[in-house]
Amino acid sequence: MLNKTIKIALDGPSGSGKSTLAKNLAKRYGFVYIDTGALYRTIGLFVSDRGIDSDDAENIIACLPEIKIEMKLENGGGAVYLGGKRIGEEIRTPLISKYASDVSKIPEVRAFLLETQRSIARENNVIMDGRDIGTVILPDAQVKLFVTASPEARANRRYAELCQRGVETTYEDVLAEMKWRDANDSGREIAPAIPAEDAIMFDNSGMSIEETVDNAAKIIDKVVNL
Ligand code: C5P
Repeated sequence: MLNKTIKIALDGPSGSGKSTLAKNLAKRYGFVYIDTGALYRTIGLFVSDRGIDSDDAENIIACLPEIKIEMKLENGGGAVYLGGKRIGEEIRTPLISKYASDVSKIPEVRAFLLETQRSIARENNVIMDGRDIGTVILPDAQVKLFVTASPEARANRRYAELCQRGVETTYEDVLAEMKWRDANDSGREIAPAIPAEDAIMFDNSGMSIEETVDNAAKIIDKVVNL
């Protein structure tokens, strides 16, 4: 097919280093970086601001027609806008992580966000990170990596990241929240966070960021002739 775009799917649990890897790979290849978790987090923010419980699927679904969510290309990545307002760090709190994980179990929410994700990949070469990119969103991605690391390595990274952002928390809380989210995300019926059949497992537990990026790039270079 003419002008076929290149799609690289990075799936895996929270704290696996997917987003750091995706950002670095996007820079290296000049591709657009898409953080799909930000879309679920933004839905979570909207319903949380409305005072709706994260497990109140009926009222969350009823809100969807009011949610004007867009992804615009800015500085080599997809920036999320909600009702015309650019969304930033306010979606990175533990409360909104829980909301995102809960709203993402609702089939109507996943269907609502599907086209936003696919349309960007139709027009651009992308590195997209999420949970169901290789299985549902971009099943035709040329490279699919399922990024993992041990729970302790992931909790350590997440804890350091939250501290850096000034969020008050403890390592124990982060580990507990991460285990809860892992079970919630991989145990759900719809689009569970599991590797696609043709995904390459990529465990980066003992690797530095540079090693992680170099090793992933070796896999990509073998598959995609850039
Ligand atoms: O990647 P991040 O941790 O920001 O994602 C927040 C939540 O959004 C995840 O815990 C997951 O429940 C949900 N998510 C999803 N599918 C994606 C991306 C994120 O279900 N493609």
